[in-house]
Amino acid sequence: MSGGPGPIRSIVIAGGGTAGWMAASALSLAMGASGCTITLVESEEIGTVGVGEATIPPLQLFNGLLGIDEDEFVRATGGTFKLGIEFVDWTRRGHRYFHPFGRYGDDFGMTPFHQQWLRCRAAGDEIPLSAFSLTEQAAMAGKFDRPGAASPGVFSTFSYAYHFDAMLYARFLRNYAEAKGVRRVEGKIADVGINGESGLIERLTLDDGREVAGELFIDCTGFRGLLIGQALGEPYEDWSRWLPCNRALAMPSERLADLPPYTRSTARSAGWQWRIPLQHRTGNGHVYCSEFISDDEAARVLVEDVGTAATGEPRPLRFTTGRRRNFWAGNCVSLGLASGFLEPLESTSIHLIQSGLTKLLAWFPDRGFDPGVRSEYNRQVAAEYESVRDFLVLHYNRVERDDSEFWRMCRAIEIPETLAAKIDAFERTGRLLDRGKDLFEVTSWLAVLLGQGVTPRGYDPMTLAVPEGDARRVLAAMRKVIGDTVGQMPSQAAFIDRHCRMPGGSA
Ligand SMILES: Cc1cc2nc3c(=O)[nH]c(=O)nc-3n(C[C@H](O)[C@H](O)[C@H](O)COP(=O)(O)OP(=O)(O)OC[C@H]3O[C@@H](n4cnc5c(N)ncnc54)[C@H](O)[C@@H]3O)c2cc1C
Repeated sequence: MSGGPGPIRSIVIAGGGTAGWMAASALSLAMGASGCTITLVESEEIGTVGVGEATIPPLQLFNGLLGIDEDEFVRATGGTFKLGIEFVDWTRRGHRYFHPFGRYGDDFGMTPFHQQWLRCRAAGDEIPLSAFSLTEQAAMAGKFDRPGAASPGVFSTFSYAYHFDAMLYARFLRNYAEAKGVRRVEGKIADVGINGESGLIERLTLDDGREVAGELFIDCTGFRGLLIGQALGEPYEDWSRWLPCNRALAMPSERLADLPPYTRSTARSAGWQWRIPLQHRTGNGHVYCSEFISDDEAARVLVEDVGTAATGEPRPLRFTTGRRRNFWAGNCVSLGLASGFLEPLESTSIHLIQSGLTKLLAWFPDRGFDPGVRSEYNRQVAAEYESVRDFLVLHYNRVERDDSEFWRMCRAIEIPETLAAKIDAFERTGRLLDRGKDLFEVTSWLAVLLGQGVTPRGYDPMTLAVPEGDARRVLAAMRKVIGDTVGQMPSQAAFIDRHCRMPGGSA
């Protein structure tokens, strides 16, 4: 051991929503036999936000790292498998496109697959890029299987995430973390004690006078940001000039019989509506901008179009898209809604919790709380927030819709320079700028750029290294393998029934 300030001996997590219990699970595993104690304080009376049911593929890694058995997790959370997102009426009414999680085709050596596709398209081919996505074709056929079960070659292009019940996921992780020694304290935090000299948080005082002291504090108190915002005064950067939706209504309805393996996002006159299929119910919600539609009208739009019988009332949520200026201040790291909020269009919030935790573990402090460590953490998290923000703005800004005030305003948004540069490079060359910080990779950007009607004028000249006839033959062979593979996959409902049906969940 060095003669430095010494390792952290106690961690206090404030808040027990998805963020709090993800943090408790990951930290309890990571701290291992170090002797560091972990305490989580939460208040049942305050409760959690209770939404957040669609994810992106990296969650597989998080669960895998914790050693969680996938079938057990899906069963316990009423989960289903998610192959991507179907966007309906976004570009224009009557139009749809799909953002699949797996790759399109297979690269031609150093040349990305989509470049050969662009080249063949320029020569007159009319086959859409979606025909080369095993993930999308399986999604549209309602099929699911785990990669590796059949035809391993083409399955290397396949990827998936999950839909789950947020309350059940938090409960699942709570069992995990408590079994690893995390102490849970039920109570309402009434005061945050800060050392006047160091500016570091020393303790939380509960409304009944109990105190919870610690050395490192994780703020998972949700939109309140009790520690990072209210106690430490870290400002919140408002991004609503780029992403103006600020309210949502969430409402459950009965289960969809065929369990489609994807989220559906349908554009509405002042926002959009989600549909998330779970084993025991369907999650629905309407995200909207209150400047352009009343709450009553927004509720009417949601209730009218959920597809299955409602099983609850619309529940209102309010938010401001944006982020903390610093996610980590002093000895307090904020995660989840306390650290910022990017609306759920691409299901990124839970991922940002995971990614914040991964970065915290990579830059874990000692009791000296080196400012350099903190600033590197803040820089990396800010870059990730910005890349997600750009991806979301693309959906709103590049539309043909001008049938409502809301969409006309979205078309006129002055987009971030980073996004403008990306669109410009893609339109000119078919290439995607990646400055090494993008959460979403080539497939995702391709799907959404093309889906939103951004069409490249050129393609990579290196494609010409392959004779055109050969390229065409490879493309045709890929389509056939994809078609054959989808044909052999079971439906998602049959897969779940066989492997991970929740107790009481109907097939
Ligand atoms: C409309 C909407 C849709 C969303 N959809 C998705 C999605 O599809 N995919 C996705 O990844 N994310 C989604 N999210 C985001 C996701 O819900 C959150 O990232 C996730 O639930 C984490 O929330 P949290 O744990 O930070 O906060 P919360 O769930 O609000 O938890 C806060 C915790 O802090 C505790 N607390 C607060 N104050 C006190 C106090 N004074 N004393 C003691 N305890 C206190 C509460 O009791 C609670 O336990 C969505 C969010 C919204 C608003």
